[in-house]
Amino acid sequence: MRRPFLLASLAAIVLAGCATGAALLNQQPLAQSRFQSQNSGTVSVSQQVSVDRIQATAAVLTGQAKMPDGRLIPERGTVEGRNLTRAFITQTLEGFGYKVEPHNYRNNGTNITVRLMADQPTNEYILVGAHMDSVRNAGADDNNSGSSAVLETARVLKQLQGRKVNIIFAWFDEEEIGLIGSYALARELKKQNMLVSSVHTLDMVGWDSDRDNVIEVEQPDGNLWEYYNQVNQTHGLKLPLKRTSSGDTDHVAFREEGFVAVGLCEEWVGGDTTPHYHRRSDAFTTLNFDYLTNVTRLITAVTADLSRGVKGPLVSTRIPHNRFPGKQRHRHTSYEGLPLP
Ligand SMILES: [Zn+2]
Repeated sequence: MRRPFLLASLAAIVLAGCATGAALLNQQPLAQSRFQSQNSGTVSVSQQVSVDRIQATAAVLTGQAKMPDGRLIPERGTVEGRNLTRAFITQTLEGFGYKVEPHNYRNNGTNITVRLMADQPTNEYILVGAHMDSVRNAGADDNNSGSSAVLETARVLKQLQGRKVNIIFAWFDEEEIGLIGSYALARELKKQNMLVSSVHTLDMVGWDSDRDNVIEVEQPDGNLWEYYNQVNQTHGLKLPLKRTSSGDTDHVAFREEGFVAVGLCEEWVGGDTTPHYHRRSDAFTTLNFDYLTNVTRLITAVTADLSRGVKGPLVSTRIPHNRFPGKQRHRHTSYEGLPLP
């Protein structure tokens, strides 16, 4: 049975979120604006991203370590594995102080979402998400990496002051069998007339064997390519960003429903991507946590600036995505009876 995504009365929640949010935020004197952080030497938002926390989260999501309640997540493709995954992500988010809103779109198909409301009421949202399911393997790179990055972003942003735009953090279900969860969420947001000004998805962001830190920016709509480059510069991240036209992952679902979207990925087009893709060997020990942390710093800084209303550059001419190199993912062919090396 299909249960509607309970966004209830938006205005009521905006106000409630505002009141409780303010009380929490007053306890934490961190997250200065980028200008303050440059001038005063205080810790900037991207520096609050913790490699240790990402590693600890990733260990549980890949079955390398047990959940706090003692259970193990051996894979995230079966109904059982995805239930465990949702339980762990839910517990983690509750530990950060979030109220989890499951989006149950069909039998055994449930996205996890949380909302972080702005300090002042607004209808505008941005969405940051990653798919949490795998092809019945540990899925360390695909896509524990993105899921752990978004969890860490949610943790850091909870403490950020001066937010003017609401944020939805989302963990999509059933990406590997056809972007099922992200399509369902995109349709739901559209149906509810939610003003979501941009959508950012992460898929496979934990591999960098040549250690050049290159991050591929997939199909950046609107001025998002320029925005990412602006943030990269103003936050002093100095990460090499490359624009591509790759799809076959969750940002496609949101774009098709009319949202401005973008995806982040390791060098899928550039060729420095995990050799363990959709194999049983896609395990925790293969991950490059320095790289994953850098990607997390980038998405955290972008989310922070967007939520604080930092404007992006005006773009007069937009270059079509197909002018940039892209590479198909051969998805949705290897789920049933996962082909093993
Ligand atoms: Zn994936």
